[in-house]
Order: sequence, then structure tokens, then C-alpha cells
Amino acid sequence: MKILVINTGSSSIKFKLFELPQEQELLGGTVEKIGEKKGSMRYMLTTPTGEKIEEQMEEAFTDYRSGLHKIAEVLFKREYGLLNNPEDIQVVGHRVVHGGERFSQPVRINDQVLQQIEALVPLAPLHNPPNLEGIKVSYEIFPAAQQMAVFDTAFHQTLPSFAYRYAIPHHFYEKHQVRVYGMHGTSHQYVAQQAAHYLERPLQNLHLITVHLGNGCSMTAIKEGKSFDTSMGFSPLAGLVMGTRSGDIDPAVIFYMGRRLQMSMDEIDQTLNKQSGLKGLAHSNDLRDIIQREAEGEQEAKQALELYTYRIKKYLGAYYAALGKVDAIIFTAGVGENSPLIRARSCAGLERLGILIDPAKNAAKTTTIREIQQPNSAVKILVIPTNEELAIAREAYELVQTKQSD
Ligand code: ADP
Repeated sequence: MKILVINTGSSSIKFKLFELPQEQELLGGTVEKIGEKKGSMRYMLTTPTGEKIEEQMEEAFTDYRSGLHKIAEVLFKREYGLLNNPEDIQVVGHRVVHGGERFSQPVRINDQVLQQIEALVPLAPLHNPPNLEGIKVSYEIFPAAQQMAVFDTAFHQTLPSFAYRYAIPHHFYEKHQVRVYGMHGTSHQYVAQQAAHYLERPLQNLHLITVHLGNGCSMTAIKEGKSFDTSMGFSPLAGLVMGTRSGDIDPAVIFYMGRRLQMSMDEIDQTLNKQSGLKGLAHSNDLRDIIQREAEGEQEAKQALELYTYRIKKYLGAYYAALGKVDAIIFTAGVGENSPLIRARSCAGLERLGILIDPAKNAAKTTTIREIQQPNSAVKILVIPTNEELAIAREAYELVQTKQSD
């Protein structure tokens, strides 16, 4: 069965085509800088004859619709031999960022589900609208396919109320849905499942801390296989220091920016979401660049890395306490998978908690699952590549199977 996965971000579309149940990736790519003057598209695919093709092009995309139609062009390109007609795609899996309290599982999309996702737009104004647009355009291009939504918040719906409620008057939660939702759920769940498989232990017996460090960063405490606490909150702004987001901040800073510095709500929002984090501290949201600058002796870069890794360490300690025991810490995503320096510094000084990284194993470059702890480390430390699109394809596939057997 061919499953197309569409992940519409706040200015990009990631897409992958899989054959399931073999989990073979036939095509994968990204459309970037949607709505900007200069955009781009890149993709890699394997033709039915086994030939690997890689393409990269500059092209401006005015909106998500034009980006999605360009993706369809690639899918139907005769010489690639991926698809002959739209009916070849049986399922389209969509990443939807916010599922609120309504969605704790993936769902098959119908009019009612679309309305419910629409109703959640106030909670995710930057993310749910492009997700909705992706779904609508995909209905037009693949009218015969089943459309499935997989929610980024769903995995965190198991948080206990003392972890998801804020200590503010009840009506903000009861009437206005103000609570912790958490994000990156698909990734946290996927690497937790991969860890269970790798460790040959049932997921429901494991206590894990998953550390997703990409442009957005978040950590999750997983108790007996379920999300128990997570560092993003009502929005993706909370928690770790990120590429352009501040992470945790005293909310009074916002009053100060507004009242004292006369900044508007929109300016404050932009500052904390787009101009802060590594970008605010070191003028770049590319960690490779900051690591390089620190090695050249630049103080600003050094300080940015200190803040970044100190925050991760604080959350490791907090989640250790929340869980009581930890079987494994898992690093994933762009930084988590590729930066030995960030992993080492985040875990430094936690020897008394039984967290001991092995420098040689940590430095080794591989792209598969691996352990990087010392033999006497009570806690396993794993590096596990995330694959949100594959996780979505799996969920969508399972949903189709259960629907068919209903
Ligand atoms: P996204 O959240 O956009 O999917 P990624 O998971 O691709 O992001 O992660 C992007 C981040 O990963 C960037 O900050 C980039 O600098 C960082 N990164 C990628 N490779 C390395 C590396 N070898 N060392 C340090 N950071 C890296």
C-alpha cells in the first residue's frame, strides 16, 4: 500500500512516500520558504528499477497550494515511475500540530474532524491553518485516498492533571482550554517505541527521558511507556532553549516588555518565538555554526551553548525526580543525533544519578540506533534517529487496517 505523508510546517512542507507494510521509503523531500520571494524544493527518490535520483531547485512558492501541486508533479513524473494516477495513493497521512483534548489518537478525516481541527486554530494559529490547507488540497489531488490526521499533541494526552494544569484560576482551563498540551509527540513516541524494540523490553515497562533537539526542542518524561510530563506547554514556546524560541521565561518579562518597553503583543510574540533562543543569544539558529565559533574562542557562542545545555540538564534532573527511576535517556533530531558535544555537556555532572556517557562511543558517527553510555552507567543513553513521517505512515497504516477489519 502506498502512503503519502504530508507535514506542512509554518513555512515549509515535508513529504515522504512509503510502501507499507515494507516501510520502504520511495520518495522524500521538502519545499521550503513558502510565501517568500525565493523558495526551494529538494527531494530524493528511488525508481522502481532501483535508480537513486536527487534533485534540488530554486523556485518561489506563493502558498501551500502551489507547493503541494509541485509535489504532485514530482509524484506523477513519468520517468520516475512512482505513480501512474492519483488512485495509486491509498492513504495520505497528515501531521496536524494541535489536537487539543479532543484527539488522543490518529483519526480518519471527515467533515466533522475538519471542523474540530478548525476549532483548534486559536490554540495553534501558526500551525493548524497550514495543516488544514494541506488536507484540503490533498483531497483535491487524491480524491479517492483515505485522509488520516496524526496529531503532535496526542501522545501527551496521558499527562496527569498535576503536570498539565497551570496554577491559575480554574476557568482559564475550563472555559478557555489553557493547559499544557506539549508537542513533538509523534517523535517522542516513535523513539520510545524504537528504544523498547532495541532494548527488547515491553514499552509499558520502561521509564524513559526523550530529548528531541531540532530547531524546536523538547523533552518528555515517559512513565511505563506513556507521556508523563513534557517541556513544551500551552504552545511550543515553553521549555528548552531552541533555535529561535526562548523556552522557559518568567511571564513577568512579558509585562515588562509591554508596559515598560512599550512593545505590542505581536512584537513580544515575534521576539520570543522568532528572535530568541540561539538566534537571540548568538545571532544564528544553526548549532554547527555556534559550535564552530566557540571553538574559535568567541564568548557569545560559548555562553549560548552554556544556556542551551544547562537547560537540558535541569530538565534531565527534573524528569529523573518525576519518574523516580530512568531506564534510558534518548537523544534524537538534528542536534540530538549529530552533536556529541551537546550530548556530553547536557549529561556532564550527572554521574551521581547513574548517567555516564562514554566519550568514544559518543563521538562515533553512525546513523543507526546506538548506546553511548559507559559499561557501569545505571542509565542507558541512546541515540535514536527520529522519523516523524515514517511514524505517521505507520499510524495511518494501522488505522486503515483496523477500519478494514471493523
Ligand atoms: P527541524 O526541527 O527543522 O526538523 P532538525 O531536526 O533538522 O530541525 O535540526 C536542525 C538543527 O540541527 C540545526 O540547529 C542544525 O544546526 C543542527 N545540526 C544538524 N547537524 C548537526 C551537527 N552535526 N552538529 C550540531 N548540530 C547539528
